[in-house]
Amino acid sequence: MPKFENPLAGFGVTFKAMFKKRLTEQYPEEKKPTAPRFHGRHQLNRHPDGLEKCVGCELCAWACPADAIYVEGADNTDEERYSPGERYGRVYQINYLRCILCGLCVEACPTRALTMTNDYELADRTRESLIYTKEELLAGLEEGMVDSPHAIHPGMTEKDYYSGLVTEAAPGTVQQEARSRGDVPAGRDAGERAQEAADDSSEVRR
Ligand code: SF4
Ligand code: SF4
Repeated sequence: MPKFENPLAGFGVTFKAMFKKRLTEQYPEEKKPTAPRFHGRHQLNRHPDGLEKCVGCELCAWACPADAIYVEGADNTDEERYSPGERYGRVYQINYLRCILCGLCVEACPTRALTMTNDYELADRTRESLIYTKEELLAGLEEGMVDSPHAIHPGMTEKDYYSGLVTEAAPGTVQQEARSRGDVPAGRDAGERAQEAADDSSEVRR
């Protein structure tokens, strides 16, 4: 014969739970702050004068285990400059249907262009809306910044930007005309694009 425990013991657990403090969170009306280093939505950072830190090197895309990042780099020109150096990220997309928020892309970035915010509200109804474009990921403008593209700070080099010598946009800095933005693809699947890129450059990858 099996031995049965006292059936009232189970009720004891229930009664104890009834008088405990409730842990239910009233989300989304009340949003609990995350831990400071919580891995949330990414952000593409800017230099203090508003130029972009991303140099379009694709290291973040190569580091990503989920194939969630798509990057296309391009050359800066004096008429259309997005970053202080030679190259910038012309197309930058993160597919949040694939991203597992592991942070490996942040570790791989050589310029600290890519970091993660505490924003965890990454749900939506369509696949297109969960592929975040460069415009959505780019950090907002702070005081002293002028939106890219614009000229490099007079008398400064790319190295000076990373040495912290540029603290704000030079007086008279104006935004240049963004000619190359018009042909940026949007809303396609990052994995498909990565696959196309892989097919195109299969010899390089081997
Ligand atoms: S956080 Fe991880 S999964 Fe998401 S884009 Fe970066 S490397 Fe890929
Ligand atoms: S975010 Fe960083 S790693 Fe990724 S392309 Fe830009 S500079 Fe390179």
